Amino acid sequence: MVRPRITIIGAGSAVFSLRLLNDLCKTPGLAESRVTLMDIDRERLDSVFTIAAKYAEEAGASLTFRKSETLEEAVCDADFVINTAMAGGHAYLEKVRRISERHGYYRGIDAQEFNMVSDYYTFSNYHQLLLFLTIARAIERWAPNAWYIQAANPVFEGVTLVTRTVPIKAVGFCHGHHALDGLMKALELDPKEVDWQVAGFNHGIWLNRFRYRGEDAYPLLDRWIEKRAGAWSPKNPFDDQLSPVALDMYRFYGVLPVGDTARNATWRYHRDLQTKQKWYGEPWGGADSELGWKWYQDGLNRAAEMTKEAARLLRERSELKLAHLIPLGTKLGLPPEFGQELEKILDPARKSGEQHIPFIEALVHGQAARFVVNIPNNGLIPEIPPDVVVEVPALVDESGIHPEKIEPALPRRVIKYYLYPRMMRMEMALEAFLTGDLRVLRELLYRDPRTTSDEQVEAVLEEILNLPENAAMRAHYTKGRGP
Ligand code: NAD
Repeated sequence: MVRPRITIIGAGSAVFSLRLLNDLCKTPGLAESRVTLMDIDRERLDSVFTIAAKYAEEAGASLTFRKSETLEEAVCDADFVINTAMAGGHAYLEKVRRISERHGYYRGIDAQEFNMVSDYYTFSNYHQLLLFLTIARAIERWAPNAWYIQAANPVFEGVTLVTRTVPIKAVGFCHGHHALDGLMKALELDPKEVDWQVAGFNHGIWLNRFRYRGEDAYPLLDRWIEKRAGAWSPKNPFDDQLSPVALDMYRFYGVLPVGDTARNATWRYHRDLQTKQKWYGEPWGGADSELGWKWYQDGLNRAAEMTKEAARLLRERSELKLAHLIPLGTKLGLPPEFGQELEKILDPARKSGEQHIPFIEALVHGQAARFVVNIPNNGLIPEIPPDVVVEVPALVDESGIHPEKIEPALPRRVIKYYLYPRMMRMEMALEAFLTGDLRVLRELLYRDPRTTSDEQVEAVLEEILNLPENAAMRAHYTKGRGP
């Protein structure tokens, strides 16, 4: 592939836009790429485009960028389509959460056992699932050889939906396994000497292999727990890899939950803010409490605003270089993150740690590299059906994705008590979405420990379906027909 054509849908994403551009500009192997940025929010799209063009120019990269507001144009003739879009944005998720809480569902009806992540909506997120399908079908039609690379959540439901229903090449990515870096640091292990493997579902992965210099490394973790766990406290709401909840899950399941997995536990750890604080640490009570999520959202809002501000300055004063924005930001009273983010971008050696661009590079240039991918199971975890998407390590080269054999196998408890119930909820979400049968959503809520009556279920669903932006969802569930 001489000149890869890469499309980013939802290119204005607060989480991903600058990270992906950063990686693209620092990947010499993709220097000739044509990058199409697509978003329905024109202001965000323009901002990202302005920074991307400036950045590439300063980095001397011969990347070309173009903007698109239509899916057809963005996808047409692409080789890779990265999806970071979120239909309705955080505002929709918060609206549904507020309605749910008024009806007695703390943190919303989409916060479910083994899926507490606050932007990982699977039941009331009709438009997001529909967007996944729409993008996948657009690829099938206009770029049938392209890879669909999903970053947007819910990765588990989304990639399973796409790979079951649309015959295209698809993969999902999450950065959750990077929590292992923190674990190795805490245990003072040289990462080069650690032999690790994780397996499970997205946001539900487990450290099935953990060896250090050829020996089982779990005793080192046990020693850390014995000597140091008592003094643990979180540095931020997401710092939960060695939290009481992660260690409690480790004791019960026999292997350590990795990354976002500790967020996805049972209601025992999530009943209310006080309970969350006990298990995830004070003051936030983890990322998914009302305090932790506010911390995260405030950061995202600042990132989106800073992107706009940087683009505005660059447009107004074309002589400015990105480096000039750092002192200018301080002078204008912008938050310190503004300069810190720019410093990261300007450091030629600093990549984001996201896997999307290195994955493309490995496929294009065949330099085999290891990734943690979301792909259909096809026997990797023998107890899980073949068409359910699992998250596992794989080697990627120009011939594709080569998943590792999962060795040793996941413990029985992880499979039966964690993966099975999580899989059941994924199946309910996809069946409800594909058939429009409202009884599936009702059934989910009848099983919810927060439900005390059938009337509560009717009332919460009615209010969510009656939201003006949910007209299509309401029609779908009224008629009970597939999208
Ligand atoms: P965001 O709202 O800041 O960004 C989403 C972008 O999608 C916005 O610019 C929006 O305008 C755009 N968009 C919405 N509908 C669109 C459509 N129909 N077509 C094109 N663009 C559209 O959200 P964010 O916080 O940056 O998160 C983006 C997604 O990434 C979410 O789904 C989030 O849950 C997910 N996420 C994934 C990971 C991971 O590791 N996989 C980590 C963090 C966040």
